[in-house]
Amino acid sequence: MWPLLLLLLPLCGAVEVKRPRGVSLTNYHFYDESKPFTCLDGSATIPFDQVNDDYCDCKDGSDEPGTAACPHGSFHCTNTGYKPLYIPSNRVNDGICDCCDGTDEYNSGIVCENTCKEKGRKERESLQQMAEVTREGFRLKKLFIEDWKKAREEKQKKLLELQAGKKSLEDKVEMLRSLKEEAEKPEKEAKEQHQKLWEEQLAASKAQREQELAASAFQELDDDMDGMVSVAELQTHAELDSDGDGVLSEGEAQALLSGDSQTDASSFYDRVWAAIRDKYRSEVLPTHPPAPLVPEVPGEQPPPEPSHLTAEEEEEEEEEEETEEEEEEEEEEEEVHPDQPKEAPPPLQPPQPAASPAEEDKMPPYDEPTQALINAAQEARSKFEEADRSLKDVEESIRNLEQEISFDFGPQGEFAYLYGQCYELTTNEYVYRLCPFKLVSQKPKLGGSPTNLGTWGMWAGPDHDKFSAMKYEQGTGCWQGPNRSTTVRLLCGKETAVASTTEPSRCEYLMELTTPAACPEPPPEPPAEGDHDEL
Ligand code: CA
Ligand code: CA
Repeated sequence: MWPLLLLLLPLCGAVEVKRPRGVSLTNYHFYDESKPFTCLDGSATIPFDQVNDDYCDCKDGSDEPGTAACPHGSFHCTNTGYKPLYIPSNRVNDGICDCCDGTDEYNSGIVCENTCKEKGRKERESLQQMAEVTREGFRLKKLFIEDWKKAREEKQKKLLELQAGKKSLEDKVEMLRSLKEEAEKPEKEAKEQHQKLWEEQLAASKAQREQELAASAFQELDDDMDGMVSVAELQTHAELDSDGDGVLSEGEAQALLSGDSQTDASSFYDRVWAAIRDKYRSEVLPTHPPAPLVPEVPGEQPPPEPSHLTAEEEEEEEEEEETEEEEEEEEEEEEVHPDQPKEAPPPLQPPQPAASPAEEDKMPPYDEPTQALINAAQEARSKFEEADRSLKDVEESIRNLEQEISFDFGPQGEFAYLYGQCYELTTNEYVYRLCPFKLVSQKPKLGGSPTNLGTWGMWAGPDHDKFSAMKYEQGTGCWQGPNRSTTVRLLCGKETAVASTTEPSRCEYLMELTTPAACPEPPPEPPAEGDHDEL
């Protein structure tokens, strides 16, 4: 089989040379009608009138270039106005127009319209369009190159400025750091001092409160008011039972009194109170049982005088004792909700703000000198942090600039304009997004999170044309498969746009991006119209 030669040169004004049917101009000199014909493969020599006599004499079919007689022959269409073409000789007179000039159907009764001129015109138009795109694209490419040259110079200038500014900024940050540290030392001491005082106050209030509770309990237990709490008096409080039989036996009571038969107020507090305080249930004191040991916070003021407190407390206790009997009815309910005092008993403490434990735990505000130190330290911190942030911003800008300046944007930086841009293509199902030199992603059109189809890897064209393709790698992993990756082919175009996206093999995507930066330099002038139809 002869190779089909597809020659792309447009044909205009080709000279027709008289030659046997189906013979190309290239082979014309082999067919000299004044001599015998030697088959082109040299296998035989025959009289010239056996050429195209519709009988196959040569093994290579060369004696029948214009008929279908030889099984492996080839027929040449001149196709004036379009491209010459070889067709297998069995398509000669087969009733189908194969050549645009219709010369293959000279004896089949079929009339083939000559479409070569039209085809040639269309092809020339499309070639012209392509040439126009290339010219315009190349013009834009030169602009991109110029732009990047300028931008790069500016970036370099800016980089030098930033690098120079960085040094003084570093000095400033160090200076502000030491000022901050200097200001933080007295601040820390003052705050610790404040904290310590507050904790001491808390501890003192707590101890005082504990003593008050113990004293109240003692008074309550001391039924006969002889200033002593006896075993019998203690036994009235069955909740102090220790073996779980619901009764505080004499022995148990005595054990609570450390073996004594009675105790006075001071040793009650020292030796008994701690053992019974969590179980002891007062009939009159709303503060009992004291579930958590809530510290009493005296607010911003120093704690009130204990004597003053005690005085009021005693007054109120007297009042409470008067109402004690009324309370008994409610005792059962109190057992159910032991930490929800009923409305009746007046508070043990003097005007107690309805402060929650959280509020009571709150540390009082700092005094003025401490607050001044804190303010000063805070200002020093702010100044330091602001300068430190500026320094970090400058460092980041320097990194970004260095990276951009040294990036390989093509032989003349023509692809630099793609940096920082993104281009999308929407298909039936997905929105594909290419951010050159960064990443490729795919997002379902109807919402959903994007899938990473690869992050910038490298230029990936063939060795002689490295900048014709980009590779994006290490995208989201495929289920039981590799990480997704994308090859982006760069095609010459006037516009920058994603032209197509496909997935030629699983998890490997192929994208086409048209860009002026991929346009080659067009030939200076359109090629002169040749006067031959073949090479
Ligand atoms: Ca023949
Ligand atoms: Ca045909």
